[in-house]
Order: sequence, then C-alpha cells, then structure tokens
Amino acid sequence: MLISCDTNTKSKVAIIGAGMVGMSYAYSLLNQGTVKEIVLIDINKERAEGEAMDLNHGLSFAPRKMKIYAGEYSDCKDADIAVITAGVSQKDGETRIDLLNKNAAIMKNVVGEVMKSSFHGIILVASNPVDILTYVCWKASGLPPSKVIGSGTSLDTARLRFEIAQKINISVKNIHAYIMGEHGDSEFVCWSKAFIGVKPLGDVIETLKEIEFKDLEEIYNSVKNSAYEIIKRKKASYYGIGMTLVSITSAILNNENKIIPISVCNGGTYDTVKDLYIGLPAVLNEDGVHHVVKIKLDNKEQEQLNYSATTLKEILDQMDY
Ligand code: NAD
Repeated sequence: MLISCDTNTKSKVAIIGAGMVGMSYAYSLLNQGTVKEIVLIDINKERAEGEAMDLNHGLSFAPRKMKIYAGEYSDCKDADIAVITAGVSQKDGETRIDLLNKNAAIMKNVVGEVMKSSFHGIILVASNPVDILTYVCWKASGLPPSKVIGSGTSLDTARLRFEIAQKINISVKNIHAYIMGEHGDSEFVCWSKAFIGVKPLGDVIETLKEIEFKDLEEIYNSVKNSAYEIIKRKKASYYGIGMTLVSITSAILNNENKIIPISVCNGGTYDTVKDLYIGLPAVLNEDGVHHVVKIKLDNKEQEQLNYSATTLKEILDQMDY
C-alpha cells in the first residue's frame, strides 16, 4: 500500500507580480516543496511565462512534484493563498503620496480581478508600503480581516533576530524578539519582551561580555536601515522577504498556529488606533489570523505603537482609495 507523505492537501498559491520579490518567493517555495501548484500572474505576461519556464527546469531537483505555470486571474479561483507582490517604484519628481496613490490603484485593480475569479482563500500582501496597501486590499476585497494579511514586520523581525544572534553567538532560532508597528521608519522593537531561549535579554546582557545595553539602539538602527543599505548596494531586497513569505505560507497551509508579526487589522487587542493594518504578532493557521497576540508593552513601547499607528492613519487620511 502506498502511503502519501503530503500532509497539506490544500496547497495552491497564486503570485501576482512576478518581479524580484515574487520570484524569490516562488524559488523558495520550489526549493522547500511548500506547495503543489504555483500560478504566476503579471501585467508583463512574457516575464511570467519566462519565469515559469525557468522554475520548471529546476523541478528535477525539487523535493516534490509541482505544477508551475504563467496564468490568468481566473486561475485564482481555487488558490488557497493569493500573494500580491506587484508594484511600481518611485519615478523622478514623483511625491511619496503620488506613488502611494498609484500603488493603491494597482492594488484595487489586482484585488478586484482576484475576487472576480470567485477566490475564497487568504490574501497575503508584500507590496510596499505594506501596511497601507494591505488596508486598501482588505477594503477592496470585502473579505473578513482574518483573511487579509500583510507581511508586516515579519522580515524586520527576522533581521532583528539575525543581528542579535550575530552579536551574542547564539542560534537565531533561540532569539525570541519582535519588531512591531509600521513596516517602515516608525517601527520599534519590543525590547521588554525579548528573550534568548528562556532568559530575558536584559539578564543575558548582564552576564555576557559580547553585548551591552547601549548596543540595542545600534541593533535597532541597523535593522531599520537594512532595506536602504541593501537597496544602495544592489537596488532591491528580495531573498529575505521571499523566505519570510514562505514561512507565512506554510503556517497557513499546514495549520501551524504559528506566531508571526504580520500586518494585521487591530480590532482593539492593542489600545491604539482601531481598524488599521499594522505589524502585530498574530497566530496564523488555515483560517488566516486566528487571533492577535496581546503583549504587555511598557510605557515607551506603547507610545511607540501609538506614534506608528498615528503615522499610518495620517497617510491613509491623505490618500484617495
Ligand atoms: P519588481 O519591479 O521586480 O516587480 C514588480 C512586478 O509587478 C513586475 O514584474 C511588474 O510587471 C508587476 N506589476 C506591476 N503592476 C502590475 C499590475 N497592475 N498587475 C500585475 N503585475 C504588475 O519589484 P520587486 O522588487 O519584486 O518588489 C515588489 C514589491 O515588494 C515592491 O512594492 C517592494 O517595495 C516590495 N517589497 C516588500 C518587502 C516587505 O518586507 N514587505 C520587502 C522587499 C520588497
């Protein structure tokens, strides 16, 4: 008798935006064998076709059989997750708000097409500014907030864990710390709840010579500026976010109940602006967001969260969406 090793029977992903981020995600899905089917959708159909051909040539070495193809929005109808990585970058002379309105218009169009296909899965947004565009996506989709999420501060958190791990020479897997708030300049570290294994980071700092309290600000700045530093050197960042999106995907498809700081609708778990998408830790499973995890923030962190939420709200208030 043949015993199937496939635990996740649900596993089709539609990627909208076959650019650097979309394809780094697709390549990581292929290497990790996370899904059974990937459809690539892009306004530039030839690009999506070329990418699908290239990925298919790696199938001989992949951990499982997969169906990978360039498709149409109608192919979203039976997708479990639609991942939106489409976007345009800033042109010379264009203001940030012009760019925001342009990307919001793209988002509304993309979501409209996805929903027209009778899609009934979960939408995951990575396009920037991710908190704003996830909100636009939620409004345009008509889906409940548990089914629309953004990558939020998940990549920033992975960067934070890497920086701390490097500093103290402990496995990144034993670093438990979150970046919260906007995926952007107003994000903050919830230092009061940072742990190394089961030890509070503060206790570790008191016993290790490799790290001092004054290093925390440097670590935060390095994380916050890492996108700028990468873009300065190679124009865009994509591998880190590609792998982060895979981790979110497997939490959903494998019903993992995994805690990830994603862009999620604050329905009131945190005492700050409500009905706004912002980076908060949430339990993810096959239903999408099971619940937002309430962390007791200290006074400074609460102020930082309020500042971040107000910043996002002010941007939304200036936009036409
Ligand atoms: P890219 O330019 O390489 O790819 C964007 C793709 O979107 C292109 O293939 C383009 O043809 C496609 N596209 C544009 N308009 C479209 C539309 N209307 N419908 C379908 N496809 C469309 O850009 P990239 O480097 O892949 O970045 C994509 C997005 O991801 C950007 O917004 C970027 O800022 C963001 N990003 C997010 C994170 C994060 O942590 N959330 C990290 C890195 C990048």
